[in-house]
Amino acid sequence: MKKIEHIGIAVKNLPDAVEIYSKLFNQVPYKKEIVESESVATSFFQIGENKIELLEATNPTSAIAKFIENKGEGIHHIAFDVDDIVKEMERLKKEGFTLLNEQPKKGADNKLVCFVHPKSANGVLIELCQEIK
Ligand code: ZN
Repeated sequence: MKKIEHIGIAVKNLPDAVEIYSKLFNQVPYKKEIVESESVATSFFQIGENKIELLEATNPTSAIAKFIENKGEGIHHIAFDVDDIVKEMERLKKEGFTLLNEQPKKGADNKLVCFVHPKSANGVLIELCQEIK
C-alpha cells in the first residue's frame, strides 16, 4: 500500500454535509458521483495530497444506511492507494484477511476497489483502490 488515498465519511444528507465541509475546507468538492452498484451518492474534496469522500445512501438497503443506523454519522472507511489491486487482494487473503468482494469492482472517482472486512482490521473498514488508467 502506498498512501492514504481518501477517507470516507458517512452522512445522512449529502447537500447539507457538502455545505458544512465546504465551509470547513474553504473550497467546494471537485466531483459529485452516484455509484449505483453501491447505492451511494458521493462528493469528493481534494485537500492537499488527500481526499475526503462524503457518502450518502441512495436507498435504505445501502451499506451506508445500515452504518448510520448502527453507528450514526462519522468516519466510515479509510482507503489506501495500491499499484496492483489483484496482487494486493491475494496477499491480504493469504495473510488471513476477509475481503468483502472476491473481484475488484468499479468504485467512485475512476477507481477499482476492494473492501477488507472491519472484523479483520480492528473495527476499521479498509478500502483498497487502484486508479483505472
Ligand atoms: Zn471510498
